[in-house]
Formats: sequence, C-alpha cells, structure tokens
Amino acid sequence: MSSIVAIVGRPNVGKSTFFNRLIQRREAIVDAVSGVTRDRHYGKTDWNGREFSVIDTGGYVLGSDDIFEAEIDKQVELAIDEADAIIFMVDVEAGVTGMDEDVAKLLRRVDKPVFLAVNKVDNGKREENAVEFYSLGLGDYFTIASTSGSGTGDLLDAVVAALPEKEYKEEAELPRFAVVGRPNAGKSSFINSLIGEDRYIVTDIAGTTRDSIDTKYNRFGFEFNLVDTAGIRRKTKVKEDLEFYSVMRSVRAIEHCDVCLLVVDATRGFDGQVQNIFWLAERNRKGIVVLINKWDLVEKENKTMKEYEKHIKEQLAPFTDVPIVFISVLTKQRVFKAIETAVQVYENRSRRVKTSELNDLFLPIIQNYPPPAYKGKYVKIKYCMQLPTPHPQFAFFCNLPQYVKDPYKRFLENKLREEFDFKGVPISVYFRKK
Ligand code: GDP
Ligand code: GDP
Repeated sequence: MSSIVAIVGRPNVGKSTFFNRLIQRREAIVDAVSGVTRDRHYGKTDWNGREFSVIDTGGYVLGSDDIFEAEIDKQVELAIDEADAIIFMVDVEAGVTGMDEDVAKLLRRVDKPVFLAVNKVDNGKREENAVEFYSLGLGDYFTIASTSGSGTGDLLDAVVAALPEKEYKEEAELPRFAVVGRPNAGKSSFINSLIGEDRYIVTDIAGTTRDSIDTKYNRFGFEFNLVDTAGIRRKTKVKEDLEFYSVMRSVRAIEHCDVCLLVVDATRGFDGQVQNIFWLAERNRKGIVVLINKWDLVEKENKTMKEYEKHIKEQLAPFTDVPIVFISVLTKQRVFKAIETAVQVYENRSRRVKTSELNDLFLPIIQNYPPPAYKGKYVKIKYCMQLPTPHPQFAFFCNLPQYVKDPYKRFLENKLREEFDFKGVPISVYFRKK
C-alpha cells in the first residue's frame, strides 16, 4: 500500500527532471491534456523499501500571467487535497519569485508534510544563494540538483519518513473492491445500484488517510468492502480538471483494493485514458474486472459482444486473461454477474497452490519443454513454488536464472493460467538461483 507524493512549483524549476529521476525506467502514465496544460505525470517509485506514487502536477499554461497563476493555485490545491506529502520545488538560479511566494502562502496553511526543495544547486556558490528561500517561511529547505541527483537522497529520506504508515487491519479479510474509470462511465450509478434503495451499508471503516473510506456491503449474498475515495467531489467546469481528479481518485482507490472494477462507457470504448487505469491496476498487481457499461446503448447483432470483447483483448495484450462483463446499470443487466465475477477474481488472487502439486505438474512440463540453451549453457530448473505473498508470485529455482528469457517466462505463465484459474489476476514468475 503506498502513499502519494506531489511535486508542485512554477514551470522550469526542474519538476519533471526530478520526476524522471525518481521514476527512471519505470513507466509513468501520462495524462495528456490536449493544448491547454502540459502533461501531468504519475508514476510509482520506491526509496528505502517504501513504495509511493509520485505526481508531477505539471500545469504549464501558455498564456498570460493571470492564467498562469490560476493554474498554479489549482495545482497546489490538488496536491493539498490528494497527496500525503508535498514537495515544493523552487529554482536557485531564478531566486525567490512572486509566484513562489504565492505558493508558499498556500502551503504554509497546509496540515501535511511540505518539503521545500531548492533545485539547480550545482555548486557551492549556489548553496550559499539558497539561503534566501528561508524567506518563504517554510522552515528548513533541501538543496538539490535534479540533473545530477545530488542532495535528492536526503530529501527522499525525509519525505519517506513523513509518509503515513498505512497498515490496514485486515479484520474480516473481506474482498476490497474499487470502482474506477473515466468520468461519466457510470461509476456512481453502478455504486448506487449496489447500495440499493434500502441502503445495504453496514459500517463505515475510516481508513488511516483522511479521505479514503472502506464501506462494507452485503449484496447478492456477497460481503465485500467498497473502497471509495470519499470527499473531494469538486465542482468544476473545466473538463481536464475533472479528468485529472478522476485519475487521482483512481490512483488512490487502486492502491487500496484487491480487485478493481474498471467501468468503461461502451459508447466511448477502451481509449487511452481507460488503458492507463487498466495498466495502473496491473502494475499494482491488483485483480481486474472490466465492466463494459451502457450496453443498452449499443446496437447489437449476434456477434457484437464477441467482436467487442476481441477488440478489447487486443488492447490488453499480453495480459488478456481478464474477465469482461457487459452490463447496463440503467436496465440492471448483469450487475449481479459483475459482483460475482469480482468475487471470483478475488478468490483467484488469493489462490495458493501447494508446492507438491505445483512440482508434480510443472516438472514434467519443464522436462518436455526446457528453457532453450543460451550461449551453449543449459538451464536446469530443479523445482518451483508459489511465494507466500498477497498476490500470486511463482519462483522457479535453477542453476542459471539469468539465462532464462522472457518468452520462456510467458510460456510458464500461460501454463500456470491453463492449469489453475488466475483469471483477472496479474501473476509474477521469477527465476532464482539454486
Ligand atoms: P519543470 O517545468 O519544473 O518540470 O522543469 P524541467 O524539469 O522541465 O526543467 C527546466 C529546466 O531546468 C531544464 O532545462 C532542465 O535541464 C533544467 N534543470 C533541471 N534541474 C536542474 C539542475 O539540477 N541544475 C541545472 N543547472 N539545471 C536543471
Ligand atoms: P460517473 O461519473 O462514472 O460516476 O458516471 P455516472 O454514474 O454519473 O453516470 C454518467 C451518466 O451515464 C449518467 O447520466 C447516467 O445516468 C448514465 N448511465 C450510467 N449507467 C448507464 C447505463 O447503463 N446505460 C445508460 N444508457 N446510461 C447510463
């Protein structure tokens, strides 16, 4: 379970340079909002073994200073609403600017850890110059150089130490479902249809964070927690803000769940933004059910569903072993099926295969199709086991793990999926030295 760290500051101070350094080769998801603002980036990283999500709030507006300032305000408000810690970046080259002072004013009132990072401190002279940032009234600052990485370790040590410990009590071990998707896909309608008129809520369990709440439901004979990011339903007329909020909410909800119910508007399809959310769930190793909603609006012939499904699976490759349920919240079509499927995926994700069963099945398979020799060396897999982790991970012990390549990994993953039901669940396959 990880926290969210937001990077704010005016353009050109080095936010994205710092962000890219943190994320390195890990993929970031990009919220490309056409024209108006610069891309906003989200990514996952870890420091000292603590994982967290980083958001470069971007927000580069081409236009007058007025628009500019409004944009920065929004950026900071977002960070204040959604992040667990905020890195406020300023630029020693430019010195303290009016805009820095405005941002500092907003941040001084914030009840969350704020870290002032003075960037572009490439030499000793600049180290001295950095002292003027005391005037921002945010206390101690960190001097860093995002391009070389100097000083960033100390900053990250402090950030990580300030992140809340998010140990959830797994009290009843109920499945935790998160309903995610783009605005207008039908998420609220779906949740309302679950709640029903006589409200099936049993209890509200407040999460350790201010704005994340688990609500326990008992519906269709299933008991589960709905992970919702309550609060923040900001009214906004600006479309890209709505989109951004919804992605932020998705990020947080996904972090806290076992299974994501990804609600897709059938009339809009499986576009880039939906795919971003899908891969975010996959990278977080969460169970996934794709719900194609508003199916009532789609003109259907006898093959429509099959073709639609095939089209989606093409977008999901190579992770295609995912249930896709065609629903209509409006006509209550297959809403029960959606929950039933989510429960099934939860069970698949919790599946533990006994070591003896796994070896009995897999050693003969490996014998028949051993990993191909690499540089004249033969890889011998001796045995395998499922690791005792919250999501399925399999270790294959062998003499030369570094010689096993991706195609063979995929071969084993596919076999695992054939032999056991892991539908909707990302699985990891590792090779370890024995
Ligand atoms: P953003 O608009 O805040 O995301 O800023 P960018 O990351 O795009 O950086 C703006 C400019 O500052 C780029 O030309 C960077 O190469 C430069 N820059 C970033 N970090 C440093 C640094 O540590 N030292 C120096 N000298 N330049 C930097
Ligand atoms: P959210 O932004 O994802 O929470 O989406 P809402 O639940 O607010 O739904 C957006 C719009 O889609 C509303 O006007 C709903 O009435 C409509 N809607 C939701 N589900 C369905 C459905 O199954 N069929 C049709 N035709 N409309 C739906």
